[in-house]
Amino acid sequence: MSDKSNLTRRRLLAAAGAAPLALAAGRAFAQTAEGQPMPGNAALPEPMEARMGWAVVGLGSYALGQVIPEFPAARQSKLAAFVSGNPAKARELGGRYGVEHLYDYRTYDRMADNPAIDCVYIVLPVGLHAEYAIRALEAGKHVLCEKPMASTSAECEAMIAAAKANDRQLGIAYRVHFEPHNREALRRIRGGEIGAMRHIHCDHGFNASLQWPPHKWRLQKALGGGGSMYDVGIYGINTSLMMLDEQPVAVSAEYAYPSDDPRFTEVEGGIDWRMRMASGINVQGSSSYCYGPYAARQRYFGSDASIIMDPATTYYDNTLVMDGGGPRREIGAGNSREQFAAQLDGFSEAARANRPHLTPGEMGLRDIRLIEAMYRSADNGGAVIEL
Ligand code: NAD
Repeated sequence: MSDKSNLTRRRLLAAAGAAPLALAAGRAFAQTAEGQPMPGNAALPEPMEARMGWAVVGLGSYALGQVIPEFPAARQSKLAAFVSGNPAKARELGGRYGVEHLYDYRTYDRMADNPAIDCVYIVLPVGLHAEYAIRALEAGKHVLCEKPMASTSAECEAMIAAAKANDRQLGIAYRVHFEPHNREALRRIRGGEIGAMRHIHCDHGFNASLQWPPHKWRLQKALGGGGSMYDVGIYGINTSLMMLDEQPVAVSAEYAYPSDDPRFTEVEGGIDWRMRMASGINVQGSSSYCYGPYAARQRYFGSDASIIMDPATTYYDNTLVMDGGGPRREIGAGNSREQFAAQLDGFSEAARANRPHLTPGEMGLRDIRLIEAMYRSADNGGAVIEL
């Protein structure tokens, strides 16, 4: 794999030299005032032979726990291939899910010759996203890549350049955009139900363990890209900006974690951060690998009412409470679980039409640029970074 890696890295770095995209590229994917119709999963189930075929790359905890089991709920998407470095695991899962096309990281590029694969879903550690996304795009496949998009904005730019060069779609798996409670919050916010937005507060965190393999790579810079901000703080950034019709003009951040904690020698444990909008709205959040059991909350404070979502960004049990404009009340919005199949079908639709996904690569790049600016601020004692 090393020759191929070197080759790919050269291609990637060459592509990264391409003209950088402005942060304001966010405008291209700002949602309309009324929100958008539920993307994906709205149509009748398609016959299996007509569905878009997906290869899942990386058979780890999220792929096995959430991604693969949700394919049966999809209506336009089906499993077509698995990519794993562990052949026994791939065979076992292939048998269980009826997936006959099995690849490893050496045979990966041969997916180019397999017309059964339309979309490739990258569910690998962050430090591997750019390489495997670019190789899949060069193999002529559409790519949905897990969040955060990549370790650096230069890698994100290279991924976007590869999608353009190969005329394929690149999406980032921000599943919250497909989650019913968050779509309902978006509809209410855009419909003026909380009045003018004033503040957004968010907290996302959990206690990371050096002993558990999926946490271990998150604590290594080469594989995790960054610390808690990369892994979970990004939910606060991305979900907040989903609800707003503007992009940040300044950010600041300060690290907040025990400096003698042996888990955090390479990446930050916790960070408190702010984004300032030109309109005067402030978004502020915390992200952490050092509190328990977990937080995944968003709070939207408007001039007339507030929306409290606690939790807001979990897999199965998000809630939405309206406070103001009548008695405090919980709003039923559907089953959070629908977000997984809706995301798959949303991307299948975009790939089939070869049009941008609801959460495209440019959105992933915007978020990595914001996090890089927050790290610059935190490295400089919390200085405000104008964008
Ligand atoms: P994980 O460690 O459980 O799975 C990663 C997989 O990659 C494993 O099967 C591992 O064997 C494989 N792998 C291949 N090469 C590797 C290498 N060099 N080092 C380490 N592992 C290697 O991690 P996960 O929690 O499943 O996360 C995978 C991706 O999914 C990450 O990008 C993460 O951010 C994302 N994720 C997203 C969500 C979400 O809600 N959208 C939730 C969890 C994870």
